[in-house]
Amino acid sequence: MAISGCDTIDLAKKYGTPLYVMSEDEIRRVCGSYVASFQKFYHGNGRPIYASKAFCCKEMCRIVLSEGLDLEVVSGGELFTALQAGVPGQNIHFQGNNKTIPELELAVDNNVGDIVVDNLSELEKLERVAACKGKVVHISLRIKPGIDAHTHEFIRTGQIDSKFGLDLASGEAFCAVKRALELEHIKLMGLHCHIGSQIMEKEPFVHAAEVMLGLMSQIKTELGVTLDFLNLGGGFGIHYKETDDFIPYIEYMEAVSIKIHEKCTELQLDLPKIFIEPGRSVAGEAGITLYTVGGIREIPDVRSYVAIDGGMFENPRYALYQSDYTCLIANKANQPAGYTATVAGKCCESGDLIQEHTKIQTPEEGDILAVLSTGAYNYSMASNYNRNPRPACVMVRNGEGRVIIRGETYQDLIRNDL
Ligand SMILES: *Cc1c(COP(=O)(O)O)cnc(C)c1O
Repeated sequence: MAISGCDTIDLAKKYGTPLYVMSEDEIRRVCGSYVASFQKFYHGNGRPIYASKAFCCKEMCRIVLSEGLDLEVVSGGELFTALQAGVPGQNIHFQGNNKTIPELELAVDNNVGDIVVDNLSELEKLERVAACKGKVVHISLRIKPGIDAHTHEFIRTGQIDSKFGLDLASGEAFCAVKRALELEHIKLMGLHCHIGSQIMEKEPFVHAAEVMLGLMSQIKTELGVTLDFLNLGGGFGIHYKETDDFIPYIEYMEAVSIKIHEKCTELQLDLPKIFIEPGRSVAGEAGITLYTVGGIREIPDVRSYVAIDGGMFENPRYALYQSDYTCLIANKANQPAGYTATVAGKCCESGDLIQEHTKIQTPEEGDILAVLSTGAYNYSMASNYNRNPRPACVMVRNGEGRVIIRGETYQDLIRNDL
């Protein structure tokens, strides 16, 4: 089994396991196709923004920036990473439902181009920070459009019962717009929404675009203000299993752009700049994780546990929300997958599983097990639970690999212990 021309068994030997492997070819291909779709559907009036929380490190920031994407960050740490990687503040969009004063100060000091304000108290907080620094900051407002996307409840965000954003239906959003327009150190540039993640249908995106343009039109007619941009968020689903009912993200882009053009004509609204914020669909399928198989515990009439040298500390997604994954034995990839396995991690939790009742090739101790589509929300959600060091990440391209994140050592684990 190979990735970007690199043999996975060679990678496991050279760098050790567990190991995150990311394909630069695939990341660049996806970025390029998003950029091209903005040419096609909006004549370049707008751009994709990479939601860096999916996979955030300096090299990833540099790669997406070089492909012409902006960066979205949701914490001071992600912002710092992007700045350290050389991303200009102007290309950064700062999200988050409870940004702290130091985070806002970091953003203002570095001239972040778009602070996405989540709520009214944050709006006032940011006004004070900007006033102290004698700057006018460009913002957008995160709106809760009241849309229920059919995805896991923990990754749904657009419905009324959500901790994110200003409620549209109750008039809170419109109030926030009016308030933002009054503030001296705030310049309101656009509106934002993000309805959830791993969404497999086009309709919620189309509906969100329609609802958001309705608000833009109300702002124009009632307040005489034409906003510059509309950011429609991310959330496009990817393949975890072969059976995933998958829509290529370009189809979402097309369906949404048709609605936007129609709706702007109907509302006599100039076409705003359009942004989208894909995270998972940029990084997810580009990544795999390699493990070494340890003990195999076959419990008759119950299940067979196949233990690996990783687990919830480097991929907590199954433990968090039973995410699907495809697993295979990389050194037996051409053999039939006839063995039903529960792939278990090495942490002291019964729920530390990567996948249950999944078909793999017959495993033996020492085999290399690969889990596919782990590029998003794996490294970025990793922890040191049980004092396991986070694995290294190798970027592969054209048959060559290079370490982009060093694996942690035991020394790293005690670095801050006093
Ligand atoms: C997480 C997030 C995204 C990216 O979502 P994906 O499902 O990874 O595409 C985009 N925008 C916001 C505001 C987010 O919180």
